[in-house]
Amino acid sequence: MLRHPPLVHSPTACRGQGARRRSCASYAEAMRESELHVADVPQSAGTGAVPAPARIDELVAAAHARGIEDRTGTVADYIPVLAEADPESFGLCVADVDGGLHEIGDSRIRFSIQSISKAFVYALLCEEIGHAEVRETVGVDNTGLAFNSVVAIELNDGHPMNPMVNAGALATTALVPGATPEAQWDRIRDGLSRFAGRPLELDDDVYRSETATNQRNRAIAQLLESYGRIRRDPAGVVDVYTRQCSLLVDAHDLAIMGATLADGGVNPLTGEQVVSAAVCRDTLAVLAASGLYERSGEWLFEIGLPGKSGVAGGLVTVAPGKAGIAAYAPRLDAAGNSVRGQVATAYLSRALGLNIFASDSHYLRKDQP
Ligand code: GLN
Repeated sequence: MLRHPPLVHSPTACRGQGARRRSCASYAEAMRESELHVADVPQSAGTGAVPAPARIDELVAAAHARGIEDRTGTVADYIPVLAEADPESFGLCVADVDGGLHEIGDSRIRFSIQSISKAFVYALLCEEIGHAEVRETVGVDNTGLAFNSVVAIELNDGHPMNPMVNAGALATTALVPGATPEAQWDRIRDGLSRFAGRPLELDDDVYRSETATNQRNRAIAQLLESYGRIRRDPAGVVDVYTRQCSLLVDAHDLAIMGATLADGGVNPLTGEQVVSAAVCRDTLAVLAASGLYERSGEWLFEIGLPGKSGVAGGLVTVAPGKAGIAAYAPRLDAAGNSVRGQVATAYLSRALGLNIFASDSHYLRKDQP
């Protein structure tokens, strides 16, 4: 018999109550206990297929042409060095799960990965310590607030809520195994490089620029420490987090990283299993809920795929079982998401038939020749 957790343990009831931390833990506990009675059912994936390579090339070119018309948005400048990016830069790349690459424009211009690192560090951590502890400490629910919100932490009684906002990302990085920040950093850089299929390097200018201006992230880390959500030196955690955000990638790297999440954790170029298929599923669910911050609902409504943005202008989107799509265009919307990246990805989601909510009538087609 399916046992529902008592209403008082619902996630909504968790919010705004004094005993929230205990309630949230009990809710997760109760859900795990009931497990919805599907633990014995093998997870199958409806992968479908993408069009032939020449058609993908055409559609990538058309998506790029569509995106380049949009000159709205502004380049991030709260990390001073990011303001130096060329606002006109625009690269696009689709990597399918067979390793086919379809790219156009500035797909080989390098930029700092920024918040996109959060998705991959989260996946690596779940792989290393299991999703249960990460879920309990960091959570999986959208805050509905800006990525660097302090208010969101206070409103939720010190719970970071999800790993895609800065609070949750700092709590995630704090959990990465390693006796010292240096050991944690080695692990993160190595893991993200395995996702990309090549050794990723730190952009020293971005790292220094952000280190000189990241008082807010330091405040967030200290606040989390006061709530017992970070159990290491918060300054060291912020330093490792700042380094992970300063790793250099291009759109082609991000597409491969996305394709790895699309294909059960196997990098399509190297053939290495970087994380398990179950970890990919969990990570993609978190991205669908929170990958574009407070615009995540709009994004899911329009594009219908899990994605993750970064303030340098990167955007990675995952079509499960099919492909990774990545864009680089530094002009951002008010939430910090690449404008041209969103336009081009929306085009490709439609044209390549990737929206996971797209519905078609089998009934009306069945009598057609
Ligand atoms: N390093 C940036 C920060 O912490 C990342 C933010 C982002 O890409 N949204 O502020």
